[in-house]
Amino acid sequence: MKLFSSLSRTVDDFSPLHDVVRIYSCGPTVYNHAHIGNLSAYIFADILRRTFRLAGYSTKHVMNFTDVDDKTIRDSRAKYPDLDSTEALKKLTHYYEKVFLDEIAQVGNDNNAVDFVRATENIVDMQDLIRKLLAEGVAYLAEDGIYFSIAEYQKTRVYGRLSHIEIAADTRSRVDNDEYDKESAQDFALWKAQKDGEPAWDFDVDGKNFAGRPGWHIECSVMSVKNLGQPFDVHTGGVDLIFPHHENEIAQSTAGSQPAQYANFFVHNEHLLVDGKKMSKSAHNFYTLPDILAKDFDALDFRMLVLQSHYRSATNFSWDNLTAARNRRRNWRNVAELRHQTPDSGDDGQTEIVNNLLDEAAAALLNDIDTPNALKFLDQIVDIFTNHIDNLSHFALDNFIKFIDDNLGLDLCNCTSDITSAQYDFIKLRAVARDQKDWAKSDEIRDELLNQGIEIKDTNIGQIWARE
Ligand code: AMP
Ligand code: ZN
Repeated sequence: MKLFSSLSRTVDDFSPLHDVVRIYSCGPTVYNHAHIGNLSAYIFADILRRTFRLAGYSTKHVMNFTDVDDKTIRDSRAKYPDLDSTEALKKLTHYYEKVFLDEIAQVGNDNNAVDFVRATENIVDMQDLIRKLLAEGVAYLAEDGIYFSIAEYQKTRVYGRLSHIEIAADTRSRVDNDEYDKESAQDFALWKAQKDGEPAWDFDVDGKNFAGRPGWHIECSVMSVKNLGQPFDVHTGGVDLIFPHHENEIAQSTAGSQPAQYANFFVHNEHLLVDGKKMSKSAHNFYTLPDILAKDFDALDFRMLVLQSHYRSATNFSWDNLTAARNRRRNWRNVAELRHQTPDSGDDGQTEIVNNLLDEAAAALLNDIDTPNALKFLDQIVDIFTNHIDNLSHFALDNFIKFIDDNLGLDLCNCTSDITSAQYDFIKLRAVARDQKDWAKSDEIRDELLNQGIEIKDTNIGQIWARE
């Protein structure tokens, strides 16, 4: 399997460090709905894990919930002003965790294959790492928090291996905001002193209580290594996380006496754009899954849209693109529905052709998760089935459906269940009406089925139904 590494900036051969591929994905900040750009990042992480399995590996995949940071604190206090700030934080973040899990399941992610961990349940481990960094001189105390010293780190390691960022001339310039600008590296907060009314955790530093909360970067350093060991195989996230977030994770986890390597591969997805611009909450140009569902699209149409572009190219989101994705998915579903309707031809020749194309699709996925190319091979299979409905191998069709569900998560098997016996009775009645040349009745039945979301086509092997 080949994968682009943001560290080497080349497509490299992937081989796991252990028998199980260990993956960490930066998860959501749970203060609101994820926007569909965020969802595309999680769809990519899900596809990546499926591709490791396609390559024959088992996986351990961890994703965190950032359930304490500036935004979760700000919104929980605004929403629940009468609650204690820690309670308010818990209430808001637990609610949006559920929303998140539900939404990524709707877009086809397999949540059972992922271990979810909460930042607030790992504070003690974060404090342990901060104490270690203090003891080894790579971190220092300030009035408003505990900071990571880039200058100290640079004495034994190179800061900026991932992002190739410049180091600020004054390396002791500090930043307490987690998401700072990208011009230069600055000392960043590992721990933030409690501000008025904010939730805080006690932290014994040299016999004094430094109540506060962790910085965002230390959260991920700790939750990844605690669950996966160090180094682990693959770290994922969107390209916006390269700097400062992932760069700082690397620094914290490789400082002092820690191992020199944090994650073997960093894999970053490009952004989903709207009108050519990055979709973001701060720019107010984003859509959420409920926006898509409100326009009568299916969540899996959005997954198809994500799969239609390579993860390393920025994709423009538009309703036209989403419509194109829906049409493609509909074509695939209609082919999958043929398994209820056509006799099995048992045609081994067809199975061989289909399996060869599935091998090509697999090879595309294994070549740096080339989903658009994989989809082209699957379209060729769809064409074969569509043009041979009178001679269709069920074995080949089942292979096609299984490949898509296992590797692309489009839930094709479940979405294409058989119609009801009442609907089949209608279809039979229509056949009788047509034999009797009762076209009015035939049309009436066709319209009634259409009302139920079932479209009827007359073909050389009789009536074929397809869900809209
Ligand atoms: P956040 O909740 O902001 O930390 O973002 C969650 C994930 O979504 C991260 O992996 C981000 O890099 C990723 N992300 C943010 N915006 C976009 C976007 N427009 N397109 C794709 N991924 C994004
Ligand atoms: Zn992270």
